[in-house]
Amino acid sequence: MLEKNRNQVSRRSFLKGGVALLTAPLWSSGSVLGLNSAFGFTEETKDMLEQALSDEELKKLLETALSRGGDFAEIYLQHLIRTEIQLDEDKIKSFNYGIIQGGGIRVISGDKTGYAFSDDLSFPMLKEAADVASFIASSGSIQKPANLSVQKIKPYFVLNSPVALASESKKIDLLKRANQAARDYDKRIAQVRVDYMDEAKKIMIVNSEGLKTKDEQYITRLAAYPLAVEGSKRFEGYATLGGRVDFDYYEKNPPETAGKKGARQATVMLGAEDAPAGLNPVVVAAGWGGVLIHEAFGHSLEGDVIRKKTSLMADKLGTKVASEVVNVADDATIPYGRGSFNIDDEGTPGQRKVLVKDGILQEYMYDLLNAQLMKTKSTGNGRRTSYREYPIPRMTNIFIDQGKTDPQDIIKSVKEGVYAKEMGGGSVDTTSGNFNFLIREAYLIEDGKITRPIKGAVLIGNGPEAIQKIEMVGNDLYVCQTTGTCGKDGQWVYAGVGQPTIKFSEITIGGTAFKPTVI
Ligand SMILES: [Zn+2]
Repeated sequence: MLEKNRNQVSRRSFLKGGVALLTAPLWSSGSVLGLNSAFGFTEETKDMLEQALSDEELKKLLETALSRGGDFAEIYLQHLIRTEIQLDEDKIKSFNYGIIQGGGIRVISGDKTGYAFSDDLSFPMLKEAADVASFIASSGSIQKPANLSVQKIKPYFVLNSPVALASESKKIDLLKRANQAARDYDKRIAQVRVDYMDEAKKIMIVNSEGLKTKDEQYITRLAAYPLAVEGSKRFEGYATLGGRVDFDYYEKNPPETAGKKGARQATVMLGAEDAPAGLNPVVVAAGWGGVLIHEAFGHSLEGDVIRKKTSLMADKLGTKVASEVVNVADDATIPYGRGSFNIDDEGTPGQRKVLVKDGILQEYMYDLLNAQLMKTKSTGNGRRTSYREYPIPRMTNIFIDQGKTDPQDIIKSVKEGVYAKEMGGGSVDTTSGNFNFLIREAYLIEDGKITRPIKGAVLIGNGPEAIQKIEMVGNDLYVCQTTGTCGKDGQWVYAGVGQPTIKFSEITIGGTAFKPTVI
């Protein structure tokens, strides 16, 4: 299952297929009938963060934050409009929308962080938050914040008509069309659920070093879950669309494609045989299979675990950490990417980082605090769920980079093995690197050909060992922009994953009898 109960995963890193709900202080729901205007930035809300506080007030907030000492202070302001629609049993079951806005004030003193937030963007409330945050630094010399200088960002990609700004009737139509296409696909499709979400977010970041910057970030996602039933057999298919895209994306990628794709998976898997257990060569298809590199490797390169030396990858720069055909990058600049942004949640520009080149570890991923303590620079990986949390180092879009081999030749090279067309959910122990992942849609490979579907196949292994066993990398890189929400320390952020077709020389497959720890 890709949709999981996020309460069960508190401090463990985990990338899930579903949408993570934000804690919404101003959440409200409405009936579909009552809504007839587009939600988005209106003329009144367009510049609301800029207009909320004057430069003088911003400076006063920073002075208050540093009034008891501290090395650094920061103001993070957010205005977010979110829409969620669910269709089930041929009906629109829920339509939720909400505005989530507020500001957080952070003070850093050495390795200590003081943080306080207000759900209100007014100066008196934020001043109170700044005062509370200042208590972290009760001694030491008092610094004056630098004069503010506006830093304009150069966008990596421009949206002209973000999906979030479309009318709700257009959005509802997307769900209905996906539902109908799934039902029309095969008479064994007994039920269909379709989930939709979009967000329009504005952020502004001001800090004591004089930085003042802002960004607009949009995202949308549509997920179809058609259920196929035949006698006592049932299988729920799954397919997604979306990204940080304009509305015309859904013209080029009509919602029917998600309905049909999910229905195809559900009906194919009805005929699946039990998975064989044991050690097998495994080929993982391009795209979402990158969830493995995110979970079993990426988290171990994040700056906090590197600084604290709780990662297996601490002090390993320049050493061989993967097989020589493996290159790994984390790239916040990919157009329309789920984990893409112009600036991170500390105002550092999004960047492309080569983490592994020809199997050799090149770089870690840093936020400002951990970079400062490690005497290096932020790599633009400081991210947070909302103004209620302070930023921590996180991946953006992580992927195994393009290889040279034709994917057909990779399949042909396997006499007997398993083809993972689509990975499902799983769990990883980030200290040991041990993982298990369900393969949602799997097939046998027999004599170099993909043959029969198998069900219940689970990949069991250890991240650092598995990455050494990648022996072929395809030339069909695909970075998934429609799915992936990463949880860490109770904070959820959108993250992209990707890879070309890859082959592991061997991985243990837990067959149908194996009960995976799915979180
Ligand atoms: Zn994660």
